[in-house]
Order: sequence, then C-alpha cells, then structure tokens
Amino acid sequence: MVETSAPKAPVRVRFCPSPTGNLHVGNVRTALFNWAFARHNGGAFVFRVEDTDAARDSEESYRGLLDSLRWLGLHWDEGPEAGGDVGPYRQSQRFDLYAEVAGALRSSARAYDCYCSHEELEQRREVARAAGRPSGYDGHCRELSDAQVAAYQDQGRKPALRFRMSDTAITFTDLVRGEITFEPEHVPDYVVVRANGQPLYTLTNPVDDATMAISHVLRGEDLLSSTARQLPLHRALGDLGIGGGVLPSYGHLPFVMGPGNRKLSKRDPGGGLLGYRERGFLPEGLLNYVALLGWSIGGDRELFSLDEMAAEFRIERVNPNPAQFDLKKCEAINGLKLRALSVDDLARRLVPYLQDIGALGAAASPEQETLLRAATPLVQERMTVLSEGAQMLGFLFSDDTTFVVDAGDAVAVLTADGKEVVAASREALASLDAWDTAAIESVLREALVVRRGLRPKNAFGPVRVAVTGRRISPPLFESLELLGRERSLARLGAALTR
Ligand code: GLU
Ligand code: ZN
Repeated sequence: MVETSAPKAPVRVRFCPSPTGNLHVGNVRTALFNWAFARHNGGAFVFRVEDTDAARDSEESYRGLLDSLRWLGLHWDEGPEAGGDVGPYRQSQRFDLYAEVAGALRSSARAYDCYCSHEELEQRREVARAAGRPSGYDGHCRELSDAQVAAYQDQGRKPALRFRMSDTAITFTDLVRGEITFEPEHVPDYVVVRANGQPLYTLTNPVDDATMAISHVLRGEDLLSSTARQLPLHRALGDLGIGGGVLPSYGHLPFVMGPGNRKLSKRDPGGGLLGYRERGFLPEGLLNYVALLGWSIGGDRELFSLDEMAAEFRIERVNPNPAQFDLKKCEAINGLKLRALSVDDLARRLVPYLQDIGALGAAASPEQETLLRAATPLVQERMTVLSEGAQMLGFLFSDDTTFVVDAGDAVAVLTADGKEVVAASREALASLDAWDTAAIESVLREALVVRRGLRPKNAFGPVRVAVTGRRISPPLFESLELLGRERSLARLGAALTR
C-alpha cells in the first residue's frame, strides 16, 4: 500500500482543461484557486492540456487556451511553452506512457479486458433498473474463462480495458467538504481504454497526476465521483511503481449556478472567457469577482488584488455550498477596478477596444494618444467595461463627419425640432473666440436654455448626438472642447443634412 497521506510532498497543483479555447467562469475559478493555492504555499502551478480527443481538439483551441490563461495573468510554472521536468504537458504527446500503463494494469490484473458490446451493456442495465438494482457495470467480464475469451475473439470482438474496483467502500477526506464515502455499488469497474485503443480521461488524468507528482487536486464538484474511481487507480499505480507514489489530496470546489439556477458550465451568461474579454472586462476585475464564488478574503471585503488573494488563500475556507453567479455584480466589481486604474493605464487598455470599433487604426498617432489621454478621465467613472468607454470615445478619433455610432439615437433625437436646436447651437458656437469648456457651456446655455427656453435635456440632447453620435457620451462641453472647433462645427453642420 502507498501511504494515504504524503506530508512532506512539495505542493504541486494543476489546471488541466480540455482545449475548448473558451473557458467558462467555472473553469476560470478552478484555474484561479489552483494558482492561489500554489502561490500561497510556495508550490508549483502546473498547466496541462487534456487533448486526448482528436475529434474535438484542435490546434486553434489549444492556442486559445494558452492565450486565455496568459490574458488572465495566471502564470504557470510548468506546462506548454514553460517546459518542466515531467513533461510533455499535452496529453496528445503522452500516448506511449498511457499504453505502457494500460499494459501494466492489465498484466497485474488491476484491469481486465471487457468484451461486452454497447447493446449488451444497455440491455443488462435495463434489467437491473427494472429489478431496482444498481445499474452500473455488473462485473460480467471480471473472470472470463479462456474458452469465453476465445469465443469472443472468434466473433471478432475487440476488448475495452476496464479497471477493477474493490468491493469495499471508498472513503476520503475532501479538503472542502470533509469526509466523503462512496459505497462500492456506486463506483463500479470502469473503462480506461476504449476497444479502439483510445485511452480515456479516467486513465490519462490520474496517470498524469501521479507521474507529475501532483500533491493537491482542486477541481469542480462535478468530478467528486471521479475521485472515488481515481483513488484506487492511484494506489494501483503506486504499487506498480508508476509515478512518485504521492497520493494527492482532493478538494472539490462548489458548483457555480447561473441564471435560472442552472449550472453555469452549461451556459455562461457572459459568453465564456472570450465574451468577457471582448466586452472589456479587466482580467483582474473578472478574477476578483470569480474569487468570490465560494471564497472570501474575510469580513465584507470584496475588492482585492491577486497578490492579496494569494497571501490569504486557504482551501479550508472554501464554502462547499453552491455559489451564485451574478453578472451585474461581476460588472460592478469590474467598474470599481476600472476606476482604480491610473489614467495612463486605462488609456492604454482602451486602445484595442477603440481599434475594434474602427476608431483607431493599428498604430495610434502621437496626437491620437494625447487626445485619448485627455479624454480618458471623462469616461473613467461612466463605464463598467472597456468597450463602453471605447464606444463613448470613438467619436473623437474618426474624421468622418457623418460618424454616428448609434443610428437609432440619431433617428430618435435629430428630428425637425432637434435639427433646429443643432442649427442654433452651431450658430452660437461659430461666434466663439475662445474654444474651451467654460466658454462653450456658457454660450450654449445662453443660446438654447435662456433664449429659446429649452429644458437642458432637449437643448443638449440633439447637440450631443450630432457631435458624439450617441445619447450616452462623455460630458458634452468637455467633449466639444476636445473635439476642437473645426470638427465640432463640421459635425453640427453634417447633422443638419441627415
Ligand atoms: N480535463 C478535465 C476537465 O476539463 C480535467 C478535470 C480535472 O481537473 O481532473 O474537466
Ligand atoms: Zn464486459
């Protein structure tokens, strides 16, 4: 027997997604908690890619995965591109190892050939269900005679490899949930290699955890029953001298529930990592919120940095109850993080979003950079995600005088009455000598509110849409100043001819 606890094993955790390229919030949380656990304990954060399913995995999604983790800023100590002593870190490059392990399990009778066809398995399951018996694999091929094996082979059947579970209960102490017991009828013998030779997650995952000397497995609660299956396999590997003999400790992170109290993994309301990124969440904003899904830094405190999280992170403090994902809250936290950035930093982060909407080209000119730097404080308090800031600032960078981001706003506001207001404001502004916020404000108030008796909303709404293209914009008078006299007058003129 291997020791059931390995007190002196160095802390090594792993994040091991399949390459879908678009992680959902639950995956992000798993990555974050593993990263924080490694940092807190001075251990290694291993990144492994579970790409054994050639039909579903692609090089593109593999790249997407690396890119996602990099964007999040969760630096991995070992893994693709970083290297490490126990690589390769892509399962698709480890098939020789899996074949070797499968052979060892088979020859030591820890696993056996199963010739049952899908139809036969399904049929026996039905019978068991009808009789009220457990419907898992019934051990049919555990002790086949040579004659039975020969008969199956004569029929041309190819066997799958099935791991032999013990007939006693499996008990382990979960780092989050405490003691867990699975009765043997709930963890029947399971397939580790398909009849076509393909090794399954059930094999590759624990084999890699063992050979990579993973000390702690922190993963979603949906894998709780996998742990009951994997523990005996780990012990078997230890007995066979495969891996370093470290039996990992397990901690299962609570489910994350999305809208309608459905598991978020099925449908992330933010559109997965790519969706959050596209809308302009800051990685540190998204991670800060995700940290709150089952963990708290203490008290009512909700805002913290990654380093602060790592300093405080203890797996025992993770709450086993399901966590509720709230997109509004996630946005609010992101907004607070945005507000805490320096103006220079925020301006720099807005650039790709301005490029996305075509307001900036691939390389911003020095003038554009200065303009962006000057305009950024106007929107810093008004957005929750970067794309909103870019939408509001886009008007400053386009030289197209008919530039209107939101055509709907133009139709709603630039009515006949609206155009009269625009004409009056243009005339008033054209007479201005000094082009600064205070002068602009006073001349517009005089012309529209005082002389025409308009309410501010009706006075400035049309001007705002004519100049910025949208009803939601940075403060109007400052915007006019930044846009400059010529461009402002040109836009007001263009709005009249719409
Ligand atoms: N590749 C598995 C997944 O993405 C890993 C699960 C685990 O952490 O063991 O679900
Ligand atoms: Zn069988």
